[in-house]
Amino acid sequence: MRQLLSKKKVYSKVLLLFCFIGVVGFLSNSALAALLILSVALLLWHYHHLFLLDKWLWRDRKLSPPLSEGVWGNLFEGFYYQQRKERRKQRLLRDTVRRFRDGAEALPQAVVVLTTDWAIIWCNKLAQMLIGLHWPDDEGQRLHNLIRHPDFLSYLKQLNFSQPLELASPINEQLVLEFNIVPYGAEQYLLTVRDISQLKQLEQVRKDFVANVSHELRTPLTVLQGYLELMDDESVPDEKIWRKAHTVMLEQTKRMDGLVQQLLTLSRIEASARVQFEDKVDVPAMLAQLKLETESLNQEKQHHIQFKIDNSLYVTGVSEELRSAFSNLVINAIKYTPAGGDIQISWQRQHLSALFSVIDNGEGIAPQHVKRLTERFYRVDQARARNTGGTGLGLAIVKHVLSRHNSRLMIFSEPGQGSRFSFTLPAE
Ligand code: ADP
Repeated sequence: MRQLLSKKKVYSKVLLLFCFIGVVGFLSNSALAALLILSVALLLWHYHHLFLLDKWLWRDRKLSPPLSEGVWGNLFEGFYYQQRKERRKQRLLRDTVRRFRDGAEALPQAVVVLTTDWAIIWCNKLAQMLIGLHWPDDEGQRLHNLIRHPDFLSYLKQLNFSQPLELASPINEQLVLEFNIVPYGAEQYLLTVRDISQLKQLEQVRKDFVANVSHELRTPLTVLQGYLELMDDESVPDEKIWRKAHTVMLEQTKRMDGLVQQLLTLSRIEASARVQFEDKVDVPAMLAQLKLETESLNQEKQHHIQFKIDNSLYVTGVSEELRSAFSNLVINAIKYTPAGGDIQISWQRQHLSALFSVIDNGEGIAPQHVKRLTERFYRVDQARARNTGGTGLGLAIVKHVLSRHNSRLMIFSEPGQGSRFSFTLPAE
């Protein structure tokens, strides 16, 4: 780096030059003209360097300065040094900003940096996906002009952000979002938004579940209570009423027992660890046992039940769970097929898989119900299903068992024609 310019040196050099040219001019009888020419030359030299500086600063894209000597050389080098320092600072700043942005992009939440009057300074990609902001087009836009929900506007207005705000996404009604605002840096706000749809859905499922269980248990309990109130210490009902009461109470107790058993099965399946495919399940033996059970279940309706079993077809899985899936589907076919119907139960090899299917020519199910059948407590006809002793949990259990065995339930049904419930498992 060059040294600071020395005034003394510069002035003495100029003075020396003027003296020399003055003497030379004096000797040739034109001192004044010589000094004038020198002054003009000096002026032109300075102007030339001013133009060079102007060109370098405004038009040249080069970092290195024009070559020059003397006073201007020193100045150029000073400019060059300052520029380099500035660029280094800018690079550091850019790196810091990039690191901050990368961090904010990696967050699993939408992030928007705002001024105190809600103008957008910056937002990450998730903010674009969750609340529909456009970056960089929306830079400087007021947030309340882009999210116009009245709840959001009053949330901003009240300036109390101790509680988050829950709102549907402005671009997708299905998404439930949680908005949080915190003061950030100097005169800024940081808005974070996270998608809580799944959480809300789980909460709803839990609430529905508790409501459904309570409702299912209340009906039989009310019946029991009604009859028990008839039989206090003083008044014992006559034999005819007592016999009816006994039958109904027994039925309702069985219903409650069935419900509790299925709830326990469901929670056992949910609580157990992932299926270890170690146990070889003897499905043909299991279905032979089921065949015996269906004979006693079928006494009332006298269906024509056909079993078509491949006796060499085994699978791996959890025996108890698979038994429950097979029997739920068979029992449903018996329950929902009018007396004297045809039911075909088949366990056959299909390529590398084992296919289980139950086909009946019963009442069938309308398409709008089919996709909801495996929901807990879902019944096509609430009243009729209750009469058949249904709890609405059977197919939920089947779905759960199958998903734990990497399979899924397939349902084809036509109202008035019958239904086909089937699934495949990898054959042993
Ligand atoms: P439920 O205990 O009520 O039988 P499920 O979960 O086993 O409960 O079945 C849900 C609903 O699906 C039943 O209420 C019934 O309406 C319908 N369903 C199940 N299987 C059949 C079938 N084979 N034919 C017609 N409807 C059926």
